[in-house]
Amino acid sequence: MLDGMGIRFDTDVPIGKEMTWYGVGGAAQVLAHPAGVAQLSALVARCYEQQVPVNILGSGANLLVKDRGVPGVVVKLDDLAFSQYKVQGTKITAGAGLDLFKLVLECAKDGLAGLAHVAGIPASVGGAVRMNAGGAFGDIGSTVHKVQVMAENGQVYSRDRDDLVFGYRRTNIVAPYILDVEFDMDEADPQDIARRVKEIFLYKKSTQPMSENSAGCAFKNPSIVLPGHDSDEDGPPPPTERVSAGKLIDQAGLKGYRVGGAEVSHRHANFIFTHPCCTADDVLALMDHIQQTVLDHSGIALEREVVIWP
Ligand SMILES: Cc1cc2nc3c(=O)[nH]c(=O)nc-3n(C[C@H](O)[C@H](O)[C@H](O)COP(=O)(O)OP(=O)(O)OC[C@H]3O[C@@H](n4cnc5c(N)ncnc54)[C@H](O)[C@@H]3O)c2cc1C
Repeated sequence: MLDGMGIRFDTDVPIGKEMTWYGVGGAAQVLAHPAGVAQLSALVARCYEQQVPVNILGSGANLLVKDRGVPGVVVKLDDLAFSQYKVQGTKITAGAGLDLFKLVLECAKDGLAGLAHVAGIPASVGGAVRMNAGGAFGDIGSTVHKVQVMAENGQVYSRDRDDLVFGYRRTNIVAPYILDVEFDMDEADPQDIARRVKEIFLYKKSTQPMSENSAGCAFKNPSIVLPGHDSDEDGPPPPTERVSAGKLIDQAGLKGYRVGGAEVSHRHANFIFTHPCCTADDVLALMDHIQQTVLDHSGIALEREVVIWP
């Protein structure tokens, strides 16, 4: 189907094992590396016409690929055309394929503050915006000014700040492909920014098991109704707060619990890490077990944060 389009691609590529942080799972039927927006547009338009599924892969830091693999085309924005970094005053534009930490460091060097709070989150710029990645210091959406996206049929358009909504690990960007992102930054002393980046990076390293094969938090922190505020169908929605999924998993006694090669981390119970013998099925079975045990223990249903293909 891709013959004659001039797009570089390979077939039967073990993306699960080689391109995700879990390091488990099956192959992509086709892995395509478009050389720019025009090639990506032609590719997705053809797939759309022929009803071939397309998935876009970032750094694979929030992704579990099932053992049976991914049908259709997986797109990787690893061409230089998608990793550009441009500065215009205090606005920067970053390609979706650019590594997020590289972007954070470039901005620090250029004396532009506004992204230090996402230092240490493994991601591509596109993946980070899709997931609205963030943590204790805020999320990436707070600095986003504009995104350039592509629709399923290959059409390119922009969405501005006033039309964008970022919530907890979600955005209202419905277009399947984020191409580049404009951020609103502030001028600051490069050394101050670098110090802040280091501080946040070290905090993250000290609170999360960064060196294990995981996809970060497996589950979202659930939102629960504050005690004493029962929901009433006719009244306004009751006030809620987010509780730590890690704490709920820990309280359910699951730290160190293992299914096959998948294990709940002792350091952070919301991290599932994989041993070399692990399969994607092991991770899925462990996730199911965690959800059921936490529900039985605390009555709270956990929702997965990790994206699962297909
Ligand atoms: C050790 C570790 C620590 C982590 N800590 C955090 C943390 O503190 N906070 C946090 O929020 N997350 C954290 N994560 C999860 C992960 O870093 C984020 O979810 C990140 O945003 C994933 O980006 P990615 O490029 O790897 O996306 P992928 O995992 O490759 O993909 C995730 C989703 O984004 C989509 N996507 C990727 N690129 C694009 C694009 N260009 N356009 C449209 N959709 C796209 C994919 O199709 C998929 O649906 C952590 C992960 C690890 C492994």
